[in-house]
Amino acid sequence: MALKSKLLLIILDGVPYRNWRRLMGNLEGWVQSSEAQVWRMRSVLPSTSACCYASIHTGVTPQVHGILSNENRFRVRQPDIFSEVSKAGGRTGAVTHSYWSEFFRSHPFDLVEDMEFDEPGGPITHGRFHTMTGYNLKNQMTPSDVDLFATLTMLTRRHGIDYGILHSCTLDSMGHRFGHDCHEMDHACYAMDGMLAAFLPGWREAGYEVIVTADHGQTDRGHHGGHDDEMQDFALYYFGPAKGPEADALLDQLQLAPTVLSRLGVDIPATMKGKVFLI
Ligand SMILES: [Zn+2]
Repeated sequence: MALKSKLLLIILDGVPYRNWRRLMGNLEGWVQSSEAQVWRMRSVLPSTSACCYASIHTGVTPQVHGILSNENRFRVRQPDIFSEVSKAGGRTGAVTHSYWSEFFRSHPFDLVEDMEFDEPGGPITHGRFHTMTGYNLKNQMTPSDVDLFATLTMLTRRHGIDYGILHSCTLDSMGHRFGHDCHEMDHACYAMDGMLAAFLPGWREAGYEVIVTADHGQTDRGHHGGHDDEMQDFALYYFGPAKGPEADALLDQLQLAPTVLSRLGVDIPATMKGKVFLI
């Protein structure tokens, strides 16, 4: 059964609003040339990665799904984008940190069995994960973003996924490590923007709508988790034919899941109460 459209959701972990708008020259260039639209979006609280991942995909708050820190993880009970797309007959793909597999497929993550799978009938039809085991401030343990973008592209070509999510922790790790007002972060954002730009036009030519955004922001000291615009706010870029709200609208992260399902033509479950922002 064909869905209404195809969509790729690119989550660059821990990129504050100002870094998107100042340092991502390709994304901003596509806004200027009218290929993309951009808004500010605010994360749930706590503005902690695991909590935000679960809210991005379920459209409910951490207080409802129950993922309240990075350390306390389980398979969430609420319907999410994977479950609803696959229920509607669509094929899903994930190229992400293993937490996404734990929240939306099975917990705990089995390093051998869960790292890569093709599972027709499962919520995640094609999964390709990484764990960053051993991560610390001197060794990021992040894969190259080119590898992640290429793997997602492989899933679009080889498996014809209808919905795909890619998640990279590179910039979040750089922020925790170096902060934001430094050469290292200038270059890291520049490099990410250039790597993404090598793949994004091909995804559009293949018929995908694309959303590029973050899970939360970060302060100049490289922190997030709390109630602060710098920690919570990030940009959201949309490539596709739908119209969004006024340019100065502040979007809520809980709007993302129902909006993605709406673009795909998939029924929105009653638990997702956020307002669809792309019509
Ligand atoms: Zn994060």
